[in-house]
Amino acid sequence: MHDDTRCLQTDDATGPFGFQSLSFPVFRGSTVVFPTVEAYQRRRETFYDGYSYGLYGTPTSRTLEARIASLENGAKSLVVPSGLGAVVLTILAVAKAGDHVLIPDSVYDPVRTLSDNFLSFLGIQANYYDPLIGGGVAALLNDRVKLVLVESPGSATMEIQDMPAIARAAQANGTLVAADNTWATPLRLKPLEMGIDFSICAISKYFAGHSDVLMGSVTVRDEALYRRLRDVSRYLGYGVSPEDCSLVLRGIETLSVRLDRAESNALAIAKWFEERPEVFRVLHPAIPSHPGHELWQRDFSGTSGLFSVILQPWTRPHLASVIESLEFFSIGASWGGTKSIVAVMDPPPVRTATRTIEQGPLIRFSIGLEHVDDLLADLERALRMLEAEIVEPLMPPMRRGI
Ligand SMILES: *Cc1c(COP(=O)(O)O)cnc(C)c1O
Repeated sequence: MHDDTRCLQTDDATGPFGFQSLSFPVFRGSTVVFPTVEAYQRRRETFYDGYSYGLYGTPTSRTLEARIASLENGAKSLVVPSGLGAVVLTILAVAKAGDHVLIPDSVYDPVRTLSDNFLSFLGIQANYYDPLIGGGVAALLNDRVKLVLVESPGSATMEIQDMPAIARAAQANGTLVAADNTWATPLRLKPLEMGIDFSICAISKYFAGHSDVLMGSVTVRDEALYRRLRDVSRYLGYGVSPEDCSLVLRGIETLSVRLDRAESNALAIAKWFEERPEVFRVLHPAIPSHPGHELWQRDFSGTSGLFSVILQPWTRPHLASVIESLEFFSIGASWGGTKSIVAVMDPPPVRTATRTIEQGPLIRFSIGLEHVDDLLADLERALRMLEAEIVEPLMPPMRRGI
């Protein structure tokens, strides 16, 4: 079955009323009730796959988890309160005081904040590595390294990592690997088929798809890892609301068509930016000059709607007014929704293992589902304001103020 069809499967929830529709119901409940004292006393046996308490799963959350696991080609999936929560859960499930984790220098920034401020407090050391290291990661591995995190493309700077090479090196060292698969979603990349142990998604982005739900997921092939994740999730008191799960189940129905539209819109806009004099570099994996473009071609089946551009330094003084003048782009941080979003990163994100971008401001676009011609016309009109700004100092001074 194709993923497009898999996104549209109907789940049977007929139940005692004999009512069935095309959408899966919202099952609410903190207390789960049992028919006998014995069943109540044995409820912990149903903790991993059945129902023992609302915090640990409802039919709505389990149905969503099964849908995500099937798209990721995994055995089991868990949903958690946020994408960041999914990263935290994965690290805490495998690392303890004295252990090390390897983190790509291009990691989603709140993971760096987590590592430097909280993992360090727990005695877990994060070491940053060049995301383009590939199989060279072997030189950084030893008995203390319990997890290698990969995120491809990298946040903001979009480096493509050689995930199979990293997975092979890690496996040879007995180290687990987790991939943040938020950008590609399992419709464009299946990390678990590349020897990676955990596939993490910020469900808040493309899965939910409408900028109104926060959720994360972790998917694995291995039952023991699944149980470990469930246990740690219980220790942390993680839970997700059935309403949110229902919204994500709805979002998945259009995931494939939303991604297709965002992908083609974003690619057209990225190519347009490549020709612009205001742009120093376009950071989009489908552009041949992009670092790791061949790896992207080899490993991914497509792109999504998120990419960045580095502008020329001279754009700086007037950049804010240009961005604020955009009609179809809202200014904001999250991405993967139906509407276009722009985030200005100036100075560009911190790098500690590799060089920080110095050339100019970095602008990240999450391209939505609008008509691409409207988006291009909006960008063209806004950039024309910059042209006016360059021309102005060349004018005779007496004309100023007129
Ligand atoms: C947004 C994001 C996350 C975190 O997701 P939240 O649900 O907002 O916590 C994790 N990884 C990447 C790559 C993201 O872009």
